[in-house]
Amino acid sequence: SKVVSAAKHIRLPPLPTIRDLVKLYRLKALKQLSQNFLMDERLTDKIVKAAGKIQNHYVCEVGPGPGGITRSIIKRQPHKLIVVEKDPRFIPTLELLQESCASVTDMKIEIGDIRSYNFDNGFINVPKHNWYEAPPPIHLIGNLPFSVSTNLLVRWLKSISEKSSAWSFGRTSMTLTFQKEVAERMVAQVGEKQRCRLSVMCQFWCDIDYKFTIPGKAFVPKPKVDVGVVTLYPLKNPLIEMPFAVVEKVVRNVFNMRQKYSIRGAERLFPEELREHLGPKMFNLAELDFMTRPFQITNEEFARLCYAYRVICEDHPEILNYDSRAPKGIVE
Ligand code: SAM
Repeated sequence: SKVVSAAKHIRLPPLPTIRDLVKLYRLKALKQLSQNFLMDERLTDKIVKAAGKIQNHYVCEVGPGPGGITRSIIKRQPHKLIVVEKDPRFIPTLELLQESCASVTDMKIEIGDIRSYNFDNGFINVPKHNWYEAPPPIHLIGNLPFSVSTNLLVRWLKSISEKSSAWSFGRTSMTLTFQKEVAERMVAQVGEKQRCRLSVMCQFWCDIDYKFTIPGKAFVPKPKVDVGVVTLYPLKNPLIEMPFAVVEKVVRNVFNMRQKYSIRGAERLFPEELREHLGPKMFNLAELDFMTRPFQITNEEFARLCYAYRVICEDHPEILNYDSRAPKGIVE
């Protein structure tokens, strides 16, 4: 039975600490899965608080591991919680949490890779909100391995651009952890040294809030780097309306030579024989000085470059498939 301590929080029935459970079930962090566990309840509470109101809402936690963040989520009484975890060793500890919250929260344990998880199955009864309405009562929360979180972020940005997957329900927000340097790149503004492809791609589709930093030493085992907690809110009006792959290609090429004039990277969007002509044309169409360095280009100017590229592709449709890094210059 649960003790209701305050309107917004519940106290869970006495459970062994995460630290004890990890010992009890011999849940040694696996290097090959880059597992680092967060055992400090104040920090897991702080991550969940960063996600905003979740009481009576729907939450998907990615990579719960032994369940530190999961406990903090449950304390805030969501209506439904789906945890997606790749490593089946965590089933017993997650089931313990599932039982402890059963009277308030419908908790579902999914063993598998978040990258192939189908949100439509998990959030089956959640009403779909129009994109321009208030965001839906859905939150994605996770402390994933760094390599997975960056890769997942890019996939999710693509889904946001398509309003598919978790974004078929509306402007679903995400609270995720990243290596601190990556989190700083995500929010980097024009002119800043961390400004890169990821900054532009994130900012085209989301408002990004760098919430706080967690020192590496708070994790067990401790990673070599500090961790940034970031909340992403999909924009009502993205700064660009174009297929994700095309935008990604333009931004990637421009940033390819980050210390040079931006035309140097941009012209590699075109086959060699056309570069001299189409490179300057793209910048003229975008009304941008081609001597600007990539990190000095604003989001709006990047959007203009993408549209200029698309206009050029209308005259030269074969260019759309051109990739200077592919063996023969063309990606099939
Ligand atoms: N959330 C826990 C915490 O904060 O203590 C664990 C964090 S640990 C850095 C990352 C967790 O994500 C591990 O439990 C790992 O097994 C899981 N994981 C890794 N890749 C995953 C994937 N592709 N899909 C789902 N879970 C994944």
